[in-house]
Amino acid sequence: MNNRQTFFVTSPIFYPNAQPHLGHAYTTLLCDVLARHHRLVGDEAYFLTGTDEHTEKVVQAAKAQGQKPEEYLEEIVARFKNLYQKLDISYDQFIRTSDQKIHLPGAIEMWNRLVTAGDLYKSSYIGLYCVGHEAFMTEKELVDGLCPDHGMAPEKVTEVNWFFRLSKYASQIEKFIADGTLPIIPESRKKEILSFIRSGVQDVSFSRPKEKMTWGIPVPNDPGQTMYIWVDALTNYITALGFGRGEELMRFWPGMHVIGKDILRFHTVFWPAMLLSANLPLPKMVFVHGTIISNGKKMSKTLGNIINPYELIKKYGTDATRYLLLRHVHSTEDTDVTWEKLDEWYTANLTNGLGNFISRVMKMSEDNLDIREIQNFRNDTLEADAKDKQAKIHELLEQFRFNDALDEIWKFIAIGDELIQKKKPFQLIKENPEKGKEEILNFVWRAFRIANFIEPFMPDTSRKIRAAFQENKKPENLFPRLDT
Ligand SMILES: [Zn+2]
Repeated sequence: MNNRQTFFVTSPIFYPNAQPHLGHAYTTLLCDVLARHHRLVGDEAYFLTGTDEHTEKVVQAAKAQGQKPEEYLEEIVARFKNLYQKLDISYDQFIRTSDQKIHLPGAIEMWNRLVTAGDLYKSSYIGLYCVGHEAFMTEKELVDGLCPDHGMAPEKVTEVNWFFRLSKYASQIEKFIADGTLPIIPESRKKEILSFIRSGVQDVSFSRPKEKMTWGIPVPNDPGQTMYIWVDALTNYITALGFGRGEELMRFWPGMHVIGKDILRFHTVFWPAMLLSANLPLPKMVFVHGTIISNGKKMSKTLGNIINPYELIKKYGTDATRYLLLRHVHSTEDTDVTWEKLDEWYTANLTNGLGNFISRVMKMSEDNLDIREIQNFRNDTLEADAKDKQAKIHELLEQFRFNDALDEIWKFIAIGDELIQKKKPFQLIKENPEKGKEEILNFVWRAFRIANFIEPFMPDTSRKIRAAFQENKKPENLFPRLDT
């Protein structure tokens, strides 16, 4: 029997109507670190990502390029996968909502369950539809008659839709969020969503007429209507696990969702309501990460302040990019990132920090020790120290405090640097070879522990440092100096 704990983490599924950007990279990276961490502690972890493909934006973007949606999507999806490969993202499944085999049966099953529960009804609707949001908006969400996010006036639309009785579940969800049955991290987002629910929740349109939504999953038994976003998109988190087609991975549900603040409502109100209606367990947790801004503003083409993830990887390399995003972007708050700051962080903490420490230590080791001495080394005091440190890092990761976890590791590196200054093992070895060796071994031990600590964050660097031990050889230049 398998007694391992399961851990299921999901990134949002992204709209593939444009190229992947830094926000996509960041969210997915956080999921990756969590998945790697859980695998390392022995859990059975499963990491899901993917693309939300049934949107008119895809149809429009494809049209603009003279392509069919399917052709257009192949290219964009390949770009997302390519970015994830470049970032060393260890997802287990990449789900695409246009996948008829993997996704469709579960979306239909979810729809039918909502029907069975009596939670879907047809009604005519007059609403304010923001094309940018692809969603109806309420009067009070508008600022001077415009959508504050898209700066455009919504269209007045009258149509017949299927509606979901979201209002029926509002008080139940409010209670579950308030009492921690459905944990939302951080606390500020929990408060935000509670105040949203308390301001009054209305039923939501779950379908649109087929002529308005030409690309999507037809509503069961009502082919004149197409499923609109919610059942189609949110249900991916379980269709990927086999919901509606055999359930072979459903043991991973419930899992946790990592999201940005713009989709908070959908994941903490809409989705839980659907799950309650379908008689399925609520998510284990929703973690809402911080946002990367640049020069004090949201990144945008018009402002010209976009930092593209490919450029980051090209300039700094995969693991350095991972490090920069994980340590220097605040887990739950907005962080201003500029190229100047990135360069500074890279040089101070990687080139002169981790890279320099490892290379100094391994050079001393290569020159003065043989492999057996390293393999036979034991120091129980140091070992206990490392155990405490590892426990602390795990604890911070379990709280999604990625920055703080890396701070702990960099404190450990800084102490190593200080000790080299103080103990001067490179001199000591000449005066007293026996004592010198022992000191160098202590530093080698420290470097080895660093390789363990950084593994979920910087897997390739961790592997390179381990390889350096095995060969007792100074590693290649881990973080080359930036050209000035
Ligand atoms: Zn809008």
